[in-house]
Amino acid sequence: MSNCAIVGINWGDEGKGRMVDLLTGNYDIVVRYQGGGNAGHTVINEYGKFALHLLPSGIFRKGVVNILGNGVALDPENLWNEMQEVMSRGVPLTPDNLKISERASLLLPWHRELDEMEEKRLGDKKYGSTKQGIAPFYSDKYQKKTVLAGELFYPEELRNHLAQIMEWKNLTLTKVYSGEPFTMEMLDEWIKDSCEKIKPYVCDTGEFLKNAQKEGKNIMFEAQLGSLRDLDYGIYPYTTSSNTTAAFAPIGSGLPSAKIDDVIGVVKAYSTCVGEGPFVCEMFGDEAEKLREAGGEYGAKTGRPRRVGPIDLVATRYGVEVQAATHIALTKLDILSSMEKIPVCTHYMLNGEQTDKFPFPLALDSAQPVVEYFEGWNCDISGVRKWEDLPEQARKYVTMIEDAIGCPIKYISVGAERDSIIIK
Ligand code: GDP
Repeated sequence: MSNCAIVGINWGDEGKGRMVDLLTGNYDIVVRYQGGGNAGHTVINEYGKFALHLLPSGIFRKGVVNILGNGVALDPENLWNEMQEVMSRGVPLTPDNLKISERASLLLPWHRELDEMEEKRLGDKKYGSTKQGIAPFYSDKYQKKTVLAGELFYPEELRNHLAQIMEWKNLTLTKVYSGEPFTMEMLDEWIKDSCEKIKPYVCDTGEFLKNAQKEGKNIMFEAQLGSLRDLDYGIYPYTTSSNTTAAFAPIGSGLPSAKIDDVIGVVKAYSTCVGEGPFVCEMFGDEAEKLREAGGEYGAKTGRPRRVGPIDLVATRYGVEVQAATHIALTKLDILSSMEKIPVCTHYMLNGEQTDKFPFPLALDSAQPVVEYFEGWNCDISGVRKWEDLPEQARKYVTMIEDAIGCPIKYISVGAERDSIIIK
């Protein structure tokens, strides 16, 4: 038996979905353990191209059981829409290959609305939320003001529970935001149209995982976003509202006794960041525009242009430490092929001094990037499948990153398709 977690090392969008899809061939179970429908894991395989939001990226593999753990923000409406979309494209989803934890808390109909209202209230001080209701959901979960998926099996108790929470939530909606109150009829409709649809998939996934562990099954834990968006270790408050780190996987998956053997940290060959917050290595102007275009750097969920920059060795080293990564998958190396000189952010300047330590979130605003230029390889590498066949400059670039972050780079991705990979 071997367990592995696939996590993002940077700001998210590193290509985790692509790596999960590739590696699930060796695993029996894939578990999403945190975050919600604000993910946009792009997967390209024999069924076509998909941007998965909540479904685990192992859903396309025959024989792999996919689990939504207790740590996720389970939005029944969006999940059901996503399931229908995936099924309509020929991917079978049954209670055998998709299981939802009875202990997952439900994202309630008002969470998305509250997210939107709060971003509007904040105006130009907004957090850059994807408005999927994730922050209001997690706040309510910690206040114990939401319901568990397993409550769907207790319809009467569920209605009473929802009525109590609604009464409390309507105070915020109407008095704080001057919005419209929710009614029980609206909630009944939500139960019928969305919750009832996902109910057949809800079960005791903790028990299932415990048995799988006993039988020696291989389990993969799939994270959303990256180290720098972790609620505790990231660029607070421009983080997400959950823990994106591998250490949270046992808790959020429903297998608190899990020991994770391998943590595969996904790093992009350059940097991107969606939304607000400090992004020290950010590039602007023509250089940035070219990189954004070359990498197709537009959000999978929102379509927003991503902010871009060179690989940031300071942030990446920190991200590797936070994740306790055992290996790295370096993605999108092919995107740098057309650059004659490749910029690399090696250090930060902070208070007149050069540093390689990732600063406290507030100090990031005054940090400046120290950028060095690296010789490019100026040829297409998307067809390369062996380390020895990469141009010397590309190998030097990979080795330079490996040395700087102190973690072996095992996988090098040179294209979005499943087999566009070099295993070192
Ligand atoms: P995730 O959220 O971490 O799974 O990342 P996203 O799906 O948001 O972004 C990664 C994007 O890069 C997707 O469009 C992938 O199809 C694409 N991608 C992943 N790896 C590679 C690669 O090595 N080369 C190229 N050209 N595209 C890649």
